[in-house]
Amino acid sequence: TQECLDRIAAQNPVLNAFLHVDAGRALEYANALDDAGPDPAKALWGVPLALKDVLCVQGMPCTCGSRILNGFTPCYDATVAARLREAGAVFLGKLNCDEFAMGSSNETSAYGPARNPWDTDRVPGGSSGGSAVAVAAGQCFGALGTDTGGSIRQPASFCGVVGVKPTYGRCSRYGLVAYGSSLDQPGPMARTVADAAQLLQCIAGPDTRHGGHPKDSTCAPLPVPDWSAECEAARTRDLAGLTIGLPEEYWGDGIDDDVRAPMEAAIETARSLGATIKRVSLPLTKYAVPTYYIVAMAEASSNLARFDGVRYGRRAPVADGADSLLDLYTASRSQGFGEEVQRRILLGTYVLSAGYYDAYYRKAAQVRRKLREDFLAALDGCDVLAGPASPVAAWKLGELVDDPLKMYLMDIFTVSLNLAGLPGLCMPVGRGVSTGMPVGLQLFAKAFDETALFRVAAPLE
Ligand code: GLN
Repeated sequence: TQECLDRIAAQNPVLNAFLHVDAGRALEYANALDDAGPDPAKALWGVPLALKDVLCVQGMPCTCGSRILNGFTPCYDATVAARLREAGAVFLGKLNCDEFAMGSSNETSAYGPARNPWDTDRVPGGSSGGSAVAVAAGQCFGALGTDTGGSIRQPASFCGVVGVKPTYGRCSRYGLVAYGSSLDQPGPMARTVADAAQLLQCIAGPDTRHGGHPKDSTCAPLPVPDWSAECEAARTRDLAGLTIGLPEEYWGDGIDDDVRAPMEAAIETARSLGATIKRVSLPLTKYAVPTYYIVAMAEASSNLARFDGVRYGRRAPVADGADSLLDLYTASRSQGFGEEVQRRILLGTYVLSAGYYDAYYRKAAQVRRKLREDFLAALDGCDVLAGPASPVAAWKLGELVDDPLKMYLMDIFTVSLNLAGLPGLCMPVGRGVSTGMPVGLQLFAKAFDETALFRVAAPLE
């Protein structure tokens, strides 16, 4: 813990991964663990971790990368945080992210972007950029991120760490500040596949209060498999008997050579380990980005209505014209939300408005269903599908920030999975030949079959 805190202190002025460091409590808890001695019942005994700043941790500020939540300190733990704590983890602090997890580069954070540790002129990816940076730079041994449309997998790819987006419903969203409620999932980011499996195992599973009422009604009442044992066993196994599908839309034109070469090498390794490689198709991929942005913005506009300057965080002062209730809302929201968040609230409100609902939101919901069917058809006869997490490696800071549409299009290979509700994993497989930046391979599996992800990823590591 002390070593992590030292690294954070030395690196954070440049990398900006941590928005809040809880050094005092972290050391106090780590010392208490030392005094008590190792506890084999606690899978994460003394492991220093950190959490994306959209997850509530009791007594730590939670900003969601936004000015509007300045001064908000939750009085309770998100379920996933509570479970890490119960497993003996030490919390170092809260990690930078795009504002309310809206972005692909960490640049929409009101507190400045985290920087990619492999090249500090480049973005770490987003929105869980701080989580990826902290893990890649050795500031913590693992982190939690959240993934609404790729926010765990894409920064994992950009920073060279492992990230898992669990099946929708695998992990409780209780205490996760909602962005797109039907898409959001918290998940682990770690240095190795086995570490990610261990973290996921701790945070996954049904979530009920005393008395049996669900804390997150979409959290599935399913048992959690022993993924750590799976990774352990996979170390000595090859991939014989497993089939990996390559969706042609994920391997065609538009993928940078930088990304293609390491990915192709990884597929060759899988083949040499005995995997059967099969060509498959996800023909509706071209509709994924527009469908995703309609659903995500619609849900965001509704979820963000609660930030009104009254209930949480920062309230605009009367001096700024906030002297009636409506003006208070307007001033607080205008000052508190950044440009990207305001754009999404406007567009989301528009697609939900009377007269446009059928044309946009209902249509998107229908296409979403079709996208899921696409995946299920492609996964029929395959254990996993494999492709890139992003068409390019980490780009330069500032490069896309003024072109939101172009930035949205970069999400082409991650957003479908959230629309379909399926699990995915991204693992580092090499470096881009021209940029020298890390490149990740993304795996997709059937609903609640995270086991297949670990089964394939562990021997490939
Ligand atoms: N880049 C996507 C967006 O901006 C995904 C973000 C996420 O997964 N939280 O919505």
